[in-house]
Amino acid sequence: MQSQLLINGSLVKGGGAKLPVFNPATGEVLLEIAEATAAQVDEAVRAADAAFAEWGHCTPKARAEALLALADTIEDNAEIFARLESRNCGKPYHCVINDELPAVVDVFRFFAGAARCLNGLAAGEYLEGHTSMIRRDPLGVVASIAPWNYPLMMAAWKLAPALAAGNCVVIKPSEITPLTTFKLAELAKDILPAGVLNVLFGRGQTVGDALTGHPKVRMVSLTGSIATGEHIIGHTASSIKRTHMELGGKAPVIVFDDADIDAVVEGVRTFGYYNAGQDCTAACRIYAHSAIHDALVEKLGAAVASLKQGAPDDAETELGPLSSLAHLERVAAAVEKAKALPHIRVVTGGEKVAGSGYFYQPTLLAGAKQEDEIVQREVFGPVVSVTAFDDEAQVIDWANDSEYGLASSVWTHDVGRAHRVSARLQYGCTWVNTHFMLVSEMPHGGQKHSGYGKDMSLYGLEDYTTVRHVMIKH
Ligand code: NAD
Repeated sequence: MQSQLLINGSLVKGGGAKLPVFNPATGEVLLEIAEATAAQVDEAVRAADAAFAEWGHCTPKARAEALLALADTIEDNAEIFARLESRNCGKPYHCVINDELPAVVDVFRFFAGAARCLNGLAAGEYLEGHTSMIRRDPLGVVASIAPWNYPLMMAAWKLAPALAAGNCVVIKPSEITPLTTFKLAELAKDILPAGVLNVLFGRGQTVGDALTGHPKVRMVSLTGSIATGEHIIGHTASSIKRTHMELGGKAPVIVFDDADIDAVVEGVRTFGYYNAGQDCTAACRIYAHSAIHDALVEKLGAAVASLKQGAPDDAETELGPLSSLAHLERVAAAVEKAKALPHIRVVTGGEKVAGSGYFYQPTLLAGAKQEDEIVQREVFGPVVSVTAFDDEAQVIDWANDSEYGLASSVWTHDVGRAHRVSARLQYGCTWVNTHFMLVSEMPHGGQKHSGYGKDMSLYGLEDYTTVRHVMIKH
């Protein structure tokens, strides 16, 4: 397993403390990897800064060709990537190879094309005797910080737009799940010029702070928790760095009395529990109209109980373990707190799974009230709550009464209501009669404490550029 850092085009061992990397399905240590030292962080940033002189000014076509080559090599090595991701995250292998890898490849291909299509206002004579034009230029060195839930996909969402726009990147994957990013480093080394992409390893308080605080870093892009987002915004404030924040979520799923209940059950069974619920858009906070509430809870309970939890290599497995022991304890604690409330009913699940590995039962909790922590706080596990509502105005208020603002869904056959409710929801995305569907052409990102800035789409590309005005006196 490749476990070396990529600095200035060379694979090198980290010189810092060694950290264990686990297989969450068994609890075994897969290997130990050394963190980068402060000097290695500095070397990586300086290499990126030096490489920017050329990469930032080569043609979009040249950058697109490099990204297409990266996409091809990821596709050629898809099975290796999927195996690594499955072992390091506990994800079912068939999900990684069939769902995640094609999406990763597509993101690189999308941004390869998008790099050649940036646009802006028309040039013109807005002051007599002067011609003005707009440029969209790269920023320089971007520090990218990725989470553990979709390690390779999140790396792709960060690297593809940043590199396409002409920036050079130093990326730090999560210390829990670095293996696919290391593999990507090994392959990218032979495709990208030295220094354009650098890969570090380590914890937030060691490598993360040194990286985001480095004076040559012009932008920090984080996908992670709200707490880490707050910390990075504070840590980078004195150097006025641009930040791009993709933080937590607690998606409301609003089910009206005219919805297709079987479609809701199928949708929540899949998209509330995919990746063991470790997904910032997971369909985890159901509001069910009181007329269909009982029927929905009963059908959904049976459907959730039928989810097959097991070994990541088993082709039948729908749900693997959680990513770490610490996270298993967090999820269990959140459910115990909810269970202690007299009005909460455990419809199914609600316990850790005995044995090795960090498995938590797929769980459905009914009777949740708007003010309950289980409704207000992200659990980031296979746990879905159901709350009954009586009318449209009330459910819009409740859905928006949240510090999160990433994703939401509305389930109804009334087209007018679908538009009306979607227009009032304070979320970066609202799906109607589905949930969780992402495409490279459309933006993904939040509002409120879920963050700001967009991943994917032309908006994502623009986020990694700066708008400049050039004015020429005739
Ligand atoms: P986390 O915040 O603990 O860690 C994310 C990354 O930040 C890791 O690489 C970690 O090492 C790094 N980090 C921690 N402290 C840092 C510091 N001081 N400086 C620099 N880097 C630091 O989050 P996590 O537990 O890995 O991921 C789960 C969270 O990510 C959830 O809240 C989830 O909702 C969120 N998430 C959001 C999106 C989105 O698109 N909005 C997507 C996936 C995950």
